[in-house]
Amino acid sequence: MKFSEFQYTRPDLSAVRARCEEICAKIEAACCAQAQISAYDEFEALRREVETDLTIAYVRHSIDTRDEFYDQENEFSDEAGPQLEEMFQKINLALLGSKFRPELEEHFGKLLFTNMEISVRTFKPEILELMQEENRLASQYQKLYASGMVEFRGETMPLTKLGPYMQSPDRETRREAWTVRGSFFDANRAELDELYGKLVKCRNAQARCLGHENFIQLGYDRLGRNCYTPKEVASFRDQIAQDMVPIVAERKKVQQARLGVDRLCFYDDTLLFPDGNAKPEGTAEEILAAGKRMYEEMSPETAEFIDKMFEMELFDVLSKPGKAPGGYCTGIPKYKVPFIFSNFNGTAGDVDVLTHEAGHAFADYTAYKQNYPSLLQSPTLESCECHSMSMEFLTQDFHKYFFGDATEKYEIGHCESSLIFIPYGCMVDEFQHLMYENEDLTPEQRNETWLRLEKKYRPWIDFDNLPFYSRGGGWQQQLHIYLNPLYYIDYCMAQTVAFQFWIASMHDRADAWARYMRFVVAGGSKTFVELCHDSGIKVPYEPGCIREIGSEISQWLHKNARNH
Ligand code: ZN
Repeated sequence: MKFSEFQYTRPDLSAVRARCEEICAKIEAACCAQAQISAYDEFEALRREVETDLTIAYVRHSIDTRDEFYDQENEFSDEAGPQLEEMFQKINLALLGSKFRPELEEHFGKLLFTNMEISVRTFKPEILELMQEENRLASQYQKLYASGMVEFRGETMPLTKLGPYMQSPDRETRREAWTVRGSFFDANRAELDELYGKLVKCRNAQARCLGHENFIQLGYDRLGRNCYTPKEVASFRDQIAQDMVPIVAERKKVQQARLGVDRLCFYDDTLLFPDGNAKPEGTAEEILAAGKRMYEEMSPETAEFIDKMFEMELFDVLSKPGKAPGGYCTGIPKYKVPFIFSNFNGTAGDVDVLTHEAGHAFADYTAYKQNYPSLLQSPTLESCECHSMSMEFLTQDFHKYFFGDATEKYEIGHCESSLIFIPYGCMVDEFQHLMYENEDLTPEQRNETWLRLEKKYRPWIDFDNLPFYSRGGGWQQQLHIYLNPLYYIDYCMAQTVAFQFWIASMHDRADAWARYMRFVVAGGSKTFVELCHDSGIKVPYEPGCIREIGSEISQWLHKNARNH
């Protein structure tokens, strides 16, 4: 069956509510564990139906935003979401209250209940109003950012259009583009400061209502983190500052020499090569075809996956009029398949979709085959990023299908940019912890904190007196700080896992792949720590882990980047 043939029916909310109440009653009145298990299975089937319909509406709406039918259905889905959440939560609560807990844990695994407990403790009705306020503030930031227009060389353009100029091989163009970008944030300084101050206070107030000192524990709970605490995360960041920052600093000197500049400035930071970063060959269609060939040749598991994706048409990646911008990967539970959405434009970003997003899709596809309960289908977010970021490296032998003669340059750029990202990500994370611990900081004190962290994580940065950046405002352009609190370190930890799979694959391809498969097949049935242990991967905050990865990566760069 093809995606276009999947049937869509708008979920009947009152019928779903009635079914949920019926199932709840069954769980509560059950005389034995088996009765509760079968009631929960009924709930799972109901949930799969409903979530499948909502997902189909969302995907079809993004494929053609002009389609009035799916536009309405998507609006319905936005409104239905929170109501369904509340109904589903009642079932979780009923199951958590079961007197047959040991038998249930035996059947579903202990983790299902740990995850339910975490999810349940993130909410009580008293914080509903604050949650709505948080959403309002977050959308205000999003709107401000998305509507941002700037004047660049006589042309008025949206902020996002500055991107290519910020990476221009011409230094003056880069400098000007970064300056213009900064001026947007300067012009909206008061509003950006006020919004963040309010967000921090609003989140802290919710946390206090739930019995915490500040938002941090609630933030971790909202992300469903079930195996590490802020203490481990802090130790990870410190290892990065100590053992990885010096390696990145050394790479920055290499980059400076490569670019031939007297000092490496802020606006040189993302330009790794003087003539720009590697570009793929061919059209968007050719890039997609190369992706198919890559997965077919890579392993029997990826071949089966990619053939299914094409056979069922679970891709919509070529640009077409009416499509929503951006890209994503989502799962369609009833059919047990993923879906990939993107807007290919013949650039390296298209390749990222095929290596990174397809990594997420492959993990989804693989875990669906195991029939986990829906709460155990996907692991926590840092582990999901391990799926995709590791795939970026494990596909290495086939990158030549995209980049041809520029493949070597691509590999070096990919390795360096992955490395350079980690200290930045840690800075974003430490900043947020400090903000929630000190909600009364003035805007100036927040900026001073950011500058202090710049010294810790990116001591090489030279702002060349550019106004916005040198006063420490740079954090305001990081969407996650406003919109996805405390979610960012996930990328950093996942990157260190991806590096380990890559290093392993350079020693023994087959063994690395087998270990990666073990990680992926487990879906969300294990915690991040268990997934790492079972695949012979060091947990990123384990003492010595970063030093070891750092030394392997820097050796690889010494050997392979000599000619660049
Ligand atoms: Zn991802």
